[in-house]
Amino acid sequence: MTPWLVETIGLTRVFGDGAPIKALDNVSIQIASGELVAVMGPSGSGKSTLLNQIGALDQPTSGEVLVAGHSLRTLKDVDSFRAHTVGFIFQLHNLLPTLTARENVEVPMMGHQPAGARRERADELLELVGLADRKNHLPNQLSGGERQRVAVARALANNPPLVLADEPTGSLDTQAGRSLMDLLKELNREHGTTFIVVTHDPAVARQTQRVLVMEDGRILREDKVGSPLEEDLRLWRHSELGECILAGDANIQDKLTLSRSQLDALRGVLSQASRSG
Ligand code: ADP
Ligand code: MG
Repeated sequence: MTPWLVETIGLTRVFGDGAPIKALDNVSIQIASGELVAVMGPSGSGKSTLLNQIGALDQPTSGEVLVAGHSLRTLKDVDSFRAHTVGFIFQLHNLLPTLTARENVEVPMMGHQPAGARRERADELLELVGLADRKNHLPNQLSGGERQRVAVARALANNPPLVLADEPTGSLDTQAGRSLMDLLKELNREHGTTFIVVTHDPAVARQTQRVLVMEDGRILREDKVGSPLEEDLRLWRHSELGECILAGDANIQDKLTLSRSQLDALRGVLSQASRSG
């Protein structure tokens, strides 16, 4: 039994037969329950293909995907897996244009829950994503950011442990993108939902805990993201001022009007940052 929520083992996906394209080339990754992970990489590097494999939307050429300990290859009920184990958020929200926000959120629950329970759950989710007052709006009556929030609520409808988001901020402006990421972080923190977020945007990736960087169908490297404070300290350390403080430059004490003990404390913090980075 694997301790991971998501594990891929030598995952390979080849498209086409004339001039085959290795969209995924022997990808082995592990994601623990409760993580918020970003997947970055240039266009065409295999990010969406990886997400589709993890969500059982596509079959591998070789290799294996395990989700919650189950091999997707031997999955008996793919529909149930898609409905209950994973939620999807895409770049373009894919809301049904003739349904209200509430009805869109109800869609994944159809066939699983009676109408009353569906409606109650949809309202609860719309409130959670900050759209309690937009329940009866149609998608074209909502802003891009609001539509994407409805898509988040819909992804959470059946309370899946795993949500896969493919460039969820890709069609949003900076402000709406930031607020969507804040929402995903909050859901991750408060509800323990595991998120895998594909993004082009370093500012989005920086808000996650770990970044898988892809290139040509492979995992090029893995970056651990520090807390914002650690990141800031790291930047500061490499500044001219940071270097002077670390070097114990006597002039700096006067310039910053710091006491000796304050300067020592600052040096301690900065050298700590340098060690962790
Ligand atoms: P990304 O999401 O990183 O931009 P994709 O995973 O969409 O990249 O694509 C990876 C590679 O696989 C690309 O070269 C793309 O053209 C190819 N590819 C993706 N899906 C298909 C498909 N259904 N048929 C043929 N080639 C595909
Ligand atoms: Mg893509």
